[in-house]
Amino acid sequence: MSDYLGHRAPDGQQASGGRKAPDGQLTPDGHRIPDGHRAPDARPESRIVHPPLADTTGSRPMGVPLHQSHLFAFDTSDALTQAFSGPGGAFFYNRYGNPTVRSLETAVADLEGGAGAIATASGMGAINTVLLALLRSGDHVIAQRSLYGGTFAVLADLADRWGVEVTHVGGDDPAEVEAALRPTTRLLHLETISNPTTRVTDLPGLIGVAKRAGVVSVVDNTFATPLLCRPIEYGADVVIHSATKYLGGHSDVLVGVAVLADAELHRKVWHYAIELGAAADPFAAWLTLRGLQTLALRVRRHCESALDLAGRLAAHPAVGAVHYPGLPGHPDHDLARRLLPDGHGGVLAFDLVGGREAARTFTESVRLAALAPSLGGVHTLVLHPASTSHRQLDDVELAAAGIGPGTVRVSVGIEHPEDLWADVEGALAKV
Ligand code: PLP
Repeated sequence: MSDYLGHRAPDGQQASGGRKAPDGQLTPDGHRIPDGHRAPDARPESRIVHPPLADTTGSRPMGVPLHQSHLFAFDTSDALTQAFSGPGGAFFYNRYGNPTVRSLETAVADLEGGAGAIATASGMGAINTVLLALLRSGDHVIAQRSLYGGTFAVLADLADRWGVEVTHVGGDDPAEVEAALRPTTRLLHLETISNPTTRVTDLPGLIGVAKRAGVVSVVDNTFATPLLCRPIEYGADVVIHSATKYLGGHSDVLVGVAVLADAELHRKVWHYAIELGAAADPFAAWLTLRGLQTLALRVRRHCESALDLAGRLAAHPAVGAVHYPGLPGHPDHDLARRLLPDGHGGVLAFDLVGGREAARTFTESVRLAALAPSLGGVHTLVLHPASTSHRQLDDVELAAAGIGPGTVRVSVGIEHPEDLWADVEGALAKV
């Protein structure tokens, strides 16, 4: 133990008194401050670049501490060497690990039931880290057709420039996955709930085929959250989150997490994450952890409000169809009841009979909801996929994806459901 200026007190004794140098056993407020200045006789301008760290021995913070340091110092060179040994080593440099980031990784791995997790600077960072860590030229990937656009683009790029071959399949037919298998198939990439038409993927069926063939299954669980679905329970090897969405939940942070089902896979992907430099920033991890604490409350409200809104929309004359797995008419309703027994998520889509113009009027007329991309935050957001997130698709591809000219996606927030309906009903009245 050492005092504010780095003077060692005998072990077990607390330095006390006011701040006094250089021979006093002193701390500013009677608190122990260990690992402070190791060179107490240095000049002020040298001491000030080594501020002392308050010791929390004897109590513990209830908020997660923010370790906004990219660097950690050691007392012995052996300890530093040991720190390089793997994901469980001591913290030494943020690209390899950071205590705040590790708290997030441990929390999400725990929720998903994985052996470990890697937090990244964005959801796309997690997707790229996993794909690049596990694939090499000549490998074959089976991927869902209805993937998030960024993931679709990465796979197309891997195919174009790196010689990875990709076959796209639907999310509901294990036989289609079986038929797509090749001797070179390495990876199956799925999403629990598709965007924007909220189709639910037959995770047990599709992952089962991959498992029997020794193919790694990756599931993007962003839309479901680990509170509604845990793909590792169905045999998934990797679960990905854009924690930017529900896990963070407040539209204030960009972060991703890849959860690995077993320790060997964790170590392998961790090594590649270091090379890629995909690490999450501690402050982003801290904000995400803060959001994560209310995930259960938020998800319950998102699900209840989305179901309520879906039912009301389905009865409105301006609306042709509503896409929400909680509605009995949804093509995956039965599967959703099995896979998502605690709720069907906070995203829904609906088709306005008035087409593209009606969608424009609607999205520009809402007042409580906001016209914005992204999803999963506390605010309700509306979006016209055909002119934004899915604008790269032609009319035939849009139709194949179930997206019409009048399709509007809603990420339902946690506002009062009556206020939300008043806003939506008011906007519908204008279309
Ligand atoms: N996965 C899904 C399902 C998404 O919806 C998104 C973004 O919208 C991403 C991944 C990418 O996440 P990020 O924007 O955090 O990179």
